[in-house]
Amino acid sequence: MAQSAVSQVSLTVPLNSDLSFRKSVLKVHNISFREKSWVAVSPLEVTARNVRSRNQFVVCMSVQQASKPKVSVSPLELEDPKEPPINLHKPKEPYTATIVSVERIVGLKAPGETCHIVIDHGGNVPYWEGQSYGVIPPGENPKKPGAPHNVRLYSIASTRYGDFFNGKTASLCVRRAIYYDPETGKEDPSKNGVCSNFLCDSKPGDKIEVTGPSGKIMLLPEDDSNAAHIMIATGTGVAPFRGYLRRMFMESVPTFRFGGLAWLFLGVANTDSLLYDEEFTKYLQDYPENFRYDRALSREQKNQSGGKMYVQDKIEEYSDEIFKLLDGGAHIYFCGLKGMMPGIQDTLKRVAEQRGESWEEKLSQLKKNKQWHVEVY
Ligand code: FAD
Repeated sequence: MAQSAVSQVSLTVPLNSDLSFRKSVLKVHNISFREKSWVAVSPLEVTARNVRSRNQFVVCMSVQQASKPKVSVSPLELEDPKEPPINLHKPKEPYTATIVSVERIVGLKAPGETCHIVIDHGGNVPYWEGQSYGVIPPGENPKKPGAPHNVRLYSIASTRYGDFFNGKTASLCVRRAIYYDPETGKEDPSKNGVCSNFLCDSKPGDKIEVTGPSGKIMLLPEDDSNAAHIMIATGTGVAPFRGYLRRMFMESVPTFRFGGLAWLFLGVANTDSLLYDEEFTKYLQDYPENFRYDRALSREQKNQSGGKMYVQDKIEEYSDEIFKLLDGGAHIYFCGLKGMMPGIQDTLKRVAEQRGESWEEKLSQLKKNKQWHVEVY
């Protein structure tokens, strides 16, 4: 890994709240360095198109010359605490944050809608990668008249520095919960999900009550920067992994120079439903030795038996490598809908048995070693 910066050039650019900046920053040139072909971004690529005076955020972007580009983040004090922040804002005293942007991130052929939502917390609700925010939607709790709605949890999809690298925002990846009447097949708006619809319908400047951050199970262990991390996601379950991967491959964090292996398995319905695919594909180009990315598209691909392709089919395809990595101490993470786990567990059990191993013993060992991380909802 040639992550050592040869020299750094910093430039300051106002940043637009949509993702066009990120897309244009990712414009690449191939250069050769230490006999390897790396991909670099020229600061000159930051064109006037990206520099709009009305923008609220200012980002310092460092470009490591003759090396892979990474973005400088601040404030680096966010690296100081030894323990993650936990429940700084409780449901009785939530923090009133502000919506920065809401962007639909799936194509027209995706079943359902998923949005990427950036929230400005002004640095008041710091978090670590893998944690969740609670959101209290506005209005009255139908089950407790006069009381606010219950908190809904959402995995944070950004790093602690946020999408603007300044430690002031958190991003969520939210799927709109729509209710279809099982008899008529028609949507019944009175039964649509309260919080997901509030979030996906919100507009820049809207206020939002957040609690947290919460959760420790999905924190990214950073004691060994050369470790292997196997990430299994279905749909919005990709959120925490987007955070991990930005920390590993997009940000320049002096205390964490990732040199291990990150392997993402993402299961969605079809190509239009892929989430953050452009970002992940870019890491594949830039860090082919450190990143692997496998997609299971249930409605487009077939598994070996001719059925729909689910993440467990991809796991089975690479089971030898996965088991070897686990035996070598790799962390494995699962995030997404609860329904994903039985199929995955069955596959892992079957594979273990084919290898002459007891899955129960292996699983208990993985849990004991803190290699096994599950957050399903
Ligand atoms: P609710 O209003 O709570 O309704 C729940 C469901 O019931 C909906 O599908 C709704 O359509 C249906 N419903 C409502 N009324 C009726 C009725 N009368 N009869 C039958 N059905 C009805 N979600 C994400 O999108 N992204 C994430 O990253 C994410 N991370 C999570 C992390 C954790 C740790 C947990 C626990 C959950 C996470 N969730 C995530 C799920 C999220 O917390 C919410 O559960 C989800 O958004 C639905 O909440 P809602 O308020 O929209 O729906």
